[in-house]
Amino acid sequence: MVMRYLDTRDLDGSRPTFTEAVVKGIAHGGGLYVPERVPSVSLEDVLALAEIPYAERVARVFAWFEVDVEEARSLSLARAAYGDQWDDERIAPVEEVVPGMHVLELWHGPTSAFKDMALQCMPLYFSEAIEMQQRAGTLEDDFLILVATSGDTGKAALEGFADREHTRIAVFYPHGGVSEMQRKQMVTQRGTNVAVFGVRGNFDDCQAAVKAAFNDPDFNRRLHDSHRLALSSANSINWGRLLPQIVYYVSAYAEMVRQGGVVAGRPIDVCVPTGNFGNILGAYYARSMGVPIERLLCASNENNVLSDFIATGTYDVSERAFVTTPSPSMDILVSSNLERLLYHLAGPEAVRGWMRDLAEQKRFRVDRDTYRRMREFLVGDWVGNDESLEAIRRVHEETGYLMDPHTAVAWEVAERLRGENPVLVVSTAHWAKFGADVIRALMGLGHRDPLPPEHARLTPSALLEAVAKLAGSNAHVPAALAELDALPERFSTVVDAGREGVERAVQDWLSGA
Ligand SMILES: *Cc1c(COP(=O)(O)O)cnc(C)c1O
Repeated sequence: MVMRYLDTRDLDGSRPTFTEAVVKGIAHGGGLYVPERVPSVSLEDVLALAEIPYAERVARVFAWFEVDVEEARSLSLARAAYGDQWDDERIAPVEEVVPGMHVLELWHGPTSAFKDMALQCMPLYFSEAIEMQQRAGTLEDDFLILVATSGDTGKAALEGFADREHTRIAVFYPHGGVSEMQRKQMVTQRGTNVAVFGVRGNFDDCQAAVKAAFNDPDFNRRLHDSHRLALSSANSINWGRLLPQIVYYVSAYAEMVRQGGVVAGRPIDVCVPTGNFGNILGAYYARSMGVPIERLLCASNENNVLSDFIATGTYDVSERAFVTTPSPSMDILVSSNLERLLYHLAGPEAVRGWMRDLAEQKRFRVDRDTYRRMREFLVGDWVGNDESLEAIRRVHEETGYLMDPHTAVAWEVAERLRGENPVLVVSTAHWAKFGADVIRALMGLGHRDPLPPEHARLTPSALLEAVAKLAGSNAHVPAALAELDALPERFSTVVDAGREGVERAVQDWLSGA
């Protein structure tokens, strides 16, 4: 059998398969693709995952979801996705930091952040999907992925798509608007199908320009006529990014049982530092499949629209200003993937109404019954900027475990909300990804405090060495970040904001100018 996908708004009746949904990305009419049914698995099936390597776990869960890629082929894609580019062969290890608090480390991939869990995998299935459709004669073009990034996603997407067949990728970041570390990571990217551009403007300008290029029919026609390319975005609402995020929750439960952290069949709670609601949605699906997860603890930073929604049933961004925090990957106002949860709780008609309210009034309110069912498993809380740095300092002092600011938000919320169950705290970035705020935390400074001059003048890699020294024995800097200073910069073009800047950059790059 092959799983089909439905549209959360029921405006798109095309019922794509997995590979078709991955290439399409978003449903016609603006909705998101969801599986027509969620497979249910036995406890034995879950626990058996602990006995096999991570790549085989991936292939097995994908098979439960009836992906339309032949099983042996799917396994070889999974092996390539979760191979020796990871610095830990367990891929997503679970570590019990204090009794009852288990950290799921999702940052052992090439860019040291959780986006790798999906973006090392999804591009392989994307390129396989193109191959299948070209072979079947239903698709002519290769794909150009356009990405606007505020930092982390851009690097993870570049690393995932670099040298993938049938794809090219161009990333646009706000010039002067990302950390020196993030810029360095992007402009030193290897691969023959990649390009990176700074944009004169902020992240919103980048996003608006990329979106305008997407929606420009002339630009699309020129790409097709001159280069046989179609556009795609591969962003976090693509189902191809969600499926790999279900795997590690099933895998983590099996690991916890094997390590003695939970008795087989007994429930755990999961606490996730949340932005676009993609990561925590993976836990929701694992729970729906029958993995013994009781509560989902949704952790926000000062952009706390989600924890307000969970507390009140009203999602309201009408008067909300965007706040900058030490956990920038959670700085988001509209959590797109929430739409999928709402679909599973209330169905397409309700979702259509709420999404219309959100577009027109910048707010929506769910009905009582939906709210009651959501509250049976979903709780939330948020953590202030300086509180998150304080959590890093305290946990490091008490346990020796060093966390990044995103993980610290989840840790703090987990401590506040934990009950009887063991908690799985999801760690989404290596501390070295956010070295400046980690050093502030260790020195007892706040997020807005300037770094001491002896640290402020260090290059990115040297700063990380300084943090590691301050943190002591078991803090080490991942090789890819330690060597950044030494890598040659390949991309230096900065373009004007706006559609034309983006389009010209892409065309010059493709024609080798
Ligand atoms: C993207 C990201 C998040 C947020 O994940 P969502 O799926 O958007 O909720 C949290 N932490 C880090 C480090 C991230 O890169």
